[in-house]
Amino acid sequence: VSVEAALTDGVARRREELVALVGELVRVRSTLGNEEPAQAIVDGRLRGAGFEVERVQPDAAAALADPYAGYPSLSYEGRTSVVGRLPGSGGGRSMHLTGHVDVVPIEREDRWTHAPWEGAVADGRIWGRGAGDMKGGLAAYLIAAAVVADVCGERRGDLIVSSVFEEECGGNGMWSVLRAGHTADAVLIGEPTGLRLGYAATGVVWARLSAAGGAGHSMLASGEGPFDHLAKAVAAMRVVETEINTPVRDPIFAAVRERPFGMTVGRIEGGVWTASTPAELAAHIRFGFGRDHEPEEIQQRLRAAVEAAAPEVEIEFVAFRARAHAQPTTGPLIDTLSAAHREVLGSEPELSAATGTNDGRYVEGPCLNYGPTAANLHGDDEWVDIESLEETAAVVAIAAAAWTA
Ligand SMILES: [Zn+2]
Repeated sequence: VSVEAALTDGVARRREELVALVGELVRVRSTLGNEEPAQAIVDGRLRGAGFEVERVQPDAAAALADPYAGYPSLSYEGRTSVVGRLPGSGGGRSMHLTGHVDVVPIEREDRWTHAPWEGAVADGRIWGRGAGDMKGGLAAYLIAAAVVADVCGERRGDLIVSSVFEEECGGNGMWSVLRAGHTADAVLIGEPTGLRLGYAATGVVWARLSAAGGAGHSMLASGEGPFDHLAKAVAAMRVVETEINTPVRDPIFAAVRERPFGMTVGRIEGGVWTASTPAELAAHIRFGFGRDHEPEEIQQRLRAAVEAAAPEVEIEFVAFRARAHAQPTTGPLIDTLSAAHREVLGSEPELSAATGTNDGRYVEGPCLNYGPTAANLHGDDEWVDIESLEETAAVVAIAAAAWTA
C-alpha cells in the first residue's frame, strides 16, 4: 500500500470523527473574547495525536508598535493560540498547518434554517456559525495531522499545527504565533477556498467614525445633527473607494471582479430616543485595497477625506491594518499541494485570489490557503460541505507527509 493510499484511507476511517469535531467546535460559541473553550478542544486533540502543545499570548504593546499587526481588540488576558509540534528526526522541511477559531457574531438567529450554534448535519453539509469560516478547515487539518502522525512514523521535518484567534479583527493570533518562533518552510491555512489554492488576499483597514451631538430635547435642535455629519463622512469615504476601484491597479484583484475593493458600514451605534439628540453616534467601517497601497497610506487618505467633508467627525483606526499580499504562483509548495490534490480529486487545482484578508499576510515564505467548500460566511445559514472536508483532510495529509518526509 502506498503512503498516499494509507493516508487517504486513514482520513476516510475518521470521517465520522471529522464531522463530529466540526459540530463540537461550532457548539462552543467562540466569538471575540470567548475563544478558550474552542482552544481547549484543539489542545486536547493535538495532545491525543502525540503533539507537544504550547499556548501563545499576543503582546499587545508589541502589536501596537508593529505597523502591520492589528490594533488589539480586547485584553489578551486569558486568551491564547494553541500550537502543537510533532518533531521530525531532523534535516527535513517543516510544515505549519493553521486555522482560526474565532467566529463573527450572529445578527438574526430567527433568519437561520438550522439553529446557528448546533452544528446540524443535513443535505451533506454541516450548518452553523463558523462551520465554513473556519472550523471546518481547522477540523480537517487536525484530522489530517492525526493521520500523518499515525501513518508516517518516519519524517525528517517538523509538523506544526496551530489554532489562532482574532483573525476576524486584526490578526494578532497568527502574528504572535509566528513571532514566538513557530515559523516553518511552508504554511497552509484552512480557510474555505473550495479546494482551490488561495494565493492572494486584499488589504483591509477598519475605522470607527464618531460624531458628537448636544444631548437634549429635539425641540432645541434644528438643522444638521451627528447623523448628518456621519453621512457626509461616509460619502467622502465612498469617493475614496471609487477612486481605488477605477481603475483597479492591482492586476490580481482586477481579474477577480469589477470592484474588488469593498467598503462596508458594518455597524452603527448610538442614541436612545427619537426625540432626543444623541450624545454620540458612531459608524464602524471596513475598507479594502490592493498591493498598490499601504495600510498607513489608506488610513491617511481616509482621514483627509473625512476631515475635509465633515470636520465634526472623528476618525479612529481599529483592528485591521492588513496589507494586501500575493504568493508566487509557482514553486515547491504549489507543486506539492497540487500533486496531493490530483491524487485525491484526479484534477488540477485552480488558483484563487480573495477579496478579503487572511493570516497569510504574516508569512514570509511559501504559504497557501486551502480548505473546504463553504457558503454564507458571516451571513445567515452558513454551511460547509462534508465531502470537501474529507477531501481537504486527505489532500493536506498527503501534502504534509510529502513535504516533511
Ligand atoms: Zn476565516
